[in-house]
Amino acid sequence: MNQSDHIFTIKNLSQTYGAIDALRGVSCHAVRGEFLTILGSSGSGKSTMLRILAGLEMPSHVDELTLDGVDVSNVPANRRNVSTVFQHYGLFPHLSVVENVEYGLRVRKVPSAVRRAEAAKMLNMVQLGDFLEANISKLSGGQKQRVALARSLVLQPAVLLLDEPLGALDEKLRFEMQSELVRLHEEFGMTFVYVTHSQEEALTMSDRILLMDKGQIVQDGTPQEIFDRPNCRFAAEFMGMENIIEGTVSSVDGATITAAIGETLITGMWAGSRMPEPSQPVICAFRSEKLRCTAAGAGAGAGAGDDALNSIQCNIEKDVYRGKYHDAFFATPIGPLRARLWEAPGDLAKMTRLSWPKSQTVILPSD
Ligand code: ADP
Ligand code: MG
Repeated sequence: MNQSDHIFTIKNLSQTYGAIDALRGVSCHAVRGEFLTILGSSGSGKSTMLRILAGLEMPSHVDELTLDGVDVSNVPANRRNVSTVFQHYGLFPHLSVVENVEYGLRVRKVPSAVRRAEAAKMLNMVQLGDFLEANISKLSGGQKQRVALARSLVLQPAVLLLDEPLGALDEKLRFEMQSELVRLHEEFGMTFVYVTHSQEEALTMSDRILLMDKGQIVQDGTPQEIFDRPNCRFAAEFMGMENIIEGTVSSVDGATITAAIGETLITGMWAGSRMPEPSQPVICAFRSEKLRCTAAGAGAGAGAGDDALNSIQCNIEKDVYRGKYHDAFFATPIGPLRARLWEAPGDLAKMTRLSWPKSQTVILPSD
């Protein structure tokens, strides 16, 4: 991909606060027009990265920080073509809705009739066309967040930065705003950089995800890549792979790895970076919804298809009814395994075998 397709580029960015390494040698970019999500738990360095992009903070060290092809490492926030939407809105309570939205244009000395028209148009786009003169304090949380969005969008920044913008909203509203943001991204075509700790938000909204841990990017990929092929233990755990088993490499056949866990062999697809050596410690990770349980002597059951299966004997320990599905917990020779069963499983006490596709098993470095 051509460098000019990158709306921003960061190379070797570090940020320290006293003894805290908030960012440790981060390199990344955004492709022009994409919806890029920075995903990670609290304290992983997401907001620090946004503040540095916005120019609200100067980095301790960076080799390159370019925005739209221009070196901005010494350019102050108000001269960078980016705008930030924060979780806590940051609206001016003494200004009306439309005055809040046109504020940035006023700072830019846009004539009053033009800026009023632009602000009104933007408020229409976030479905607040009827609230131009409303008082900020009278608005709901969701409406305030729309005003904050309109206020940023009206500036037509090259990059819109969003720092956990839905964090303060209740679940139903958050869900609505997710699709609203995706729609706005499509309509405006500008680059969105979206920060969240919610894997569900990241998976449903993004073109690409940067997964962060302790000030570093551990994986960079599409939602599907990160969900199906986490590249390390942290990514597998963060993306909710319920079954993670430690073993050692028994054999390597291209990207197909067989691992030994005691006497048991489990086969899966290598998803780490450097290929492993025989007897190297690894982990096998697979999702609970990929497991099928069957009674002794029965076939592997529905869903198996032609795909080769890992298969192991089991004993039911606990069955938790969750409405749409069951979570069944089994004891097995490789340790406890969890299966999510969508169909009524029958008598679980009679189920003695668990199986799941080798293609849906990832093998990863153990550290
Ligand atoms: P996130 O947004 O992923 O929750 P942050 O970027 O806010 O993480 O913080 C990363 C780390 O840097 C945390 O350990 C946080 O406590 C620390 N940190 C962030 N800002 C400051 C600051 N201004 N002073 C001291 N420590 C900070
Ligand atoms: Mg944060």
